[in-house]
Amino acid sequence: MRVAIIGAGIVGLATAHALLDRGHEVVLVEPGAKQGRPTDGNAGWIAHTDVMPLASPKAWRNLPRWLMDPLGPLTIRPGYLPHLAPWLARFLLASSPARIKASIGAIRSINAEALPAWRSLLSSLALDGHLRENGILSVWRHRADFLRSQDIIERQRGFGIGAEILQPQELAKLEPALHDVEAAVLYPDACHVSDPAVLAADLLRLALERGAMLVGAHASRIELQDGAIRVHTDGSCPALGVDQVVVAAGIWSRALAAQLGDRIPLHTERGYNATYPKGTFGIGRPIMFEGEGFVTTPLDTGDRVGGAVEFAGIEAAPNHSRTDAMVQRLTRFLPHLKSEPAAKRWMGFRPSIPDSLPVIGPAGKDRRVIYAFGHGHYGLTQAAVTAQMVAGIIEGRPGSVDESPFSAQRF
Ligand SMILES: Cc1cc2nc3c(=O)[nH]c(=O)nc-3n(C[C@H](O)[C@H](O)[C@H](O)COP(=O)(O)OP(=O)(O)OC[C@H]3O[C@@H](n4cnc5c(N)ncnc54)[C@H](O)[C@@H]3O)c2cc1C
Repeated sequence: MRVAIIGAGIVGLATAHALLDRGHEVVLVEPGAKQGRPTDGNAGWIAHTDVMPLASPKAWRNLPRWLMDPLGPLTIRPGYLPHLAPWLARFLLASSPARIKASIGAIRSINAEALPAWRSLLSSLALDGHLRENGILSVWRHRADFLRSQDIIERQRGFGIGAEILQPQELAKLEPALHDVEAAVLYPDACHVSDPAVLAADLLRLALERGAMLVGAHASRIELQDGAIRVHTDGSCPALGVDQVVVAAGIWSRALAAQLGDRIPLHTERGYNATYPKGTFGIGRPIMFEGEGFVTTPLDTGDRVGGAVEFAGIEAAPNHSRTDAMVQRLTRFLPHLKSEPAAKRWMGFRPSIPDSLPVIGPAGKDRRVIYAFGHGHYGLTQAAVTAQMVAGIIEGRPGSVDESPFSAQRF
């Protein structure tokens, strides 16, 4: 089949390889990495050990404190509130115990396949060298907060996820640069990638070498016809005739889905980061600073601190006081950072759905259009498994992950 993939972010790229593996003809429609696409600036975690949706008791516990602080881990710009209200209403609904349980089950089902899918994709392309397998740490400033998180750890263990509670001396040995931490858990099986932008660039290069075609334009419209589908672009190239279309344009997918009659509650949780020269932090593995709303990653290309959730849409300019505030909070844990010069700052658009589940499945009007977007905080983690699911849907061969919780018709 000839398949157009709209968007060559991490999800589109992984999908391109899954389809090339199965002998399909692939056309990537991509205007050239949009400013703020999260594929390039994310934290690089393959966080398959995470199981909680954003609408979780953990988030609600921290929410009042976070919302009080305009530069804290979670902010809603007042002017954006009216646009966000329907999304927030769905977020509230997704917070009922039954819905949280359903989201956890679905997140686990897809995350359980995430690392095997990445391993298989990377090894088939001889890109295994991108995986860094040093585990991931969660740390708490106060033991009382750690004790309140026991339910999550128990739940993870119930799923067979390794979670080792570290004694202070074990933590000091593992990460001697860390200060002001009273509790820590090591997830030995979690991992990260060398650098997400470099990985994406390699995947694009290899997709083209394997025969994928690249159309350097915005897809502006998907026209459904009986015999074929036509993808119109805003470039000078004529409309593309294809058998199937995959919409993998991150936050920009919403408008394309709306044209086909699917109103998807997709908004962006804007995230920020600062990247320092490699080795600045003096840490050996990714760290989640629980309750602080940021993580750090020792990427091959630099040490990155990233996180924060800001609801302000895609048009508003970045507010890097937020990045500075995050760095300021990090100096509590890494005091030597105070004397470091300014880092490279970045803001990007997580494509987020209120129940923290991506949309993976056919459009309402026509099964020849497959959606693959809305991965929120886990798009890198879930890209390779999403690609396998999309390939299975296109070929009518369901895989091991139940697709129903990810359907576009669930809203
Ligand atoms: C601060 C931060 C940290 C994060 N950390 C992690 C992490 O550690 N682990 C993890 O798993 N996830 C993480 N994420 C989330 C992850 O980065 C995203 O979920 C993921 O990158 C989404 O990928 P995507 O391919 O769906 O979308 P995008 O990266 O947005 O790519 C979409 C592509 O579509 C193209 N496009 C847009 N419109 C059109 C159009 N009309 N026609 C053609 N092409 C179009 C864009 O140019 C872009 O290339 C993080 C996000 C942020 C912001």
